[in-house]
Amino acid sequence: MDDVVEELVAALPEGVVTTDAAALEKYRHDWTHDAGAGTPRAAVRAETAEHVQETLRWATRHGVGVVPRGAGTSLSGGSMAVDGCVTLSLERMTAVEIDTAARVAVVEPGALNVDVKKAAAAEGLWYPPDPSSFEISSIGGNIATNAGGLCCVKYGVTADYVLGMDVVLADGTLVTLGGKRVKDVAGLSLLKLFVGSEGTLGVVTRAVLRLVPAQQPASTVVALFPTVAAAAAAVVELGRTVRASMVELMDQASINAVEDFRPMGLDRDAGALLIVQTDAPGAAREDEVAAVVAACELAGAEDVVATDDPEEGEMFVRARRVHFTALEQRGAVLPEDVGVPVPQLPELLARVEAIGRRHGVEIPVVAHAGDGNTHPAIVHDAADADSERRARLAFDEIMHAAIALGGTITGEHGVGRLKKECLEDQVGADVMDLNRRVKQALDPDGILNPGSFV
Ligand SMILES: Cc1cc2nc3c(=O)[nH]c(=O)nc-3n(C[C@H](O)[C@H](O)[C@H](O)COP(=O)(O)OP(=O)(O)OC[C@H]3O[C@@H](n4cnc5c(N)ncnc54)[C@H](O)[C@@H]3O)c2cc1C
Repeated sequence: MDDVVEELVAALPEGVVTTDAAALEKYRHDWTHDAGAGTPRAAVRAETAEHVQETLRWATRHGVGVVPRGAGTSLSGGSMAVDGCVTLSLERMTAVEIDTAARVAVVEPGALNVDVKKAAAAEGLWYPPDPSSFEISSIGGNIATNAGGLCCVKYGVTADYVLGMDVVLADGTLVTLGGKRVKDVAGLSLLKLFVGSEGTLGVVTRAVLRLVPAQQPASTVVALFPTVAAAAAAVVELGRTVRASMVELMDQASINAVEDFRPMGLDRDAGALLIVQTDAPGAAREDEVAAVVAACELAGAEDVVATDDPEEGEMFVRARRVHFTALEQRGAVLPEDVGVPVPQLPELLARVEAIGRRHGVEIPVVAHAGDGNTHPAIVHDAADADSERRARLAFDEIMHAAIALGGTITGEHGVGRLKKECLEDQVGADVMDLNRRVKQALDPDGILNPGSFV
């Protein structure tokens, strides 16, 4: 252990810092399993905000890069380690407190999303943001990526539920932004600046999250289409009349990947599957279900089933959620997260299919279709240089296809390290420069998440 790391070990309580090679292995990769992951020189498993402050003061003093890390489920290479950096893990800070009167949760960053949901549910409340990874991803990571999920189409993304937070800046200063109040426009909107900043501007050590009354279980419509284009057309159509609480799409390759991994009785011959839910109260529920069914039939659905049974509905949602894990059984996965305005969805999906054909790679697609946010997943053989090369080409082309359609290279996973080369192509040189100026103002020594997008 060198003198610099020894100073950090001495500054923090025993067991907080590790330099053990086996222990560090856990912090090298995130869920992208990118071959470029480095090895940290140490990992700090912070137990308090003071530990985070101490770590960042030390890092600034010695010019050491710090990679903040929640649960490591990033799909953009955001939490993977950089050689010589320190990984700052928040996994031990997991407290969750519910204030039922104010309808908020006060949460430490390492708490998993599912634990906030459970604590809220125990008080008859609901924390809506629901990335597919809600059982394995942390609130700090969700805030840092402004995570989306399945219910965003009606209930919005993580940013819509963050009322306040404590953030430790690169120099170790802790600032408190916002609080338990629902409305607050005092000063610049700094709270939102940190949401989605991917660990590049500060480390979240506490969050105040808005809760809403618990919802009634949803009704589910499952529709099978002969083609992805027909399913995408149904999404555009139903958005005109229904405020659905979930609109998820799976293409044929995704259906088959899930069936291979965990047979659930999905129709392997369907060109695409839509899972649509409505949680409208009272009589409006029946009207919304009827409108969803009509929109699917109009777009050419071959089979449409509606159910009010929450367990039956949840079975289809589980099939959708297990998709990424199912794909990982087929090979290495380069996960895309491109989004377009909803009317462009059919065109984006057609272009993704053409890109897959052109490069000879399998690209199963699922989508939070109601938001126009798609996840083409490029399955390839990472040990075969040519397969890897073709996958990377397809990865780039899909992002440029989205940009050309007025879309984004990332709807919810973040830019991280995987997509940073394409960011300027989307936002332009002036906005890229603005990103750098904000970074320079808050982290002048470039300590936080080095090698990320800014
Ligand atoms: C199977 C699967 C399904 C997924 N589905 C979705 C989905 O539906 N929607 C979605 O949005 N995402 C999804 N994701 C991606 C991922 O789960 C999210 O990006 C999640 O928000 C990351 O949380 P984490 O705790 O794992 O963060 P990490 O991977 O540890 O970190 C992610 C980023 O946040 C930063 N960070 C982490 N904690 C802090 C903190 N306390 N302060 C400052 N910065 C911090 C890191 O530096 C990094 O840049 C999925 C991932 C998997 C594996």
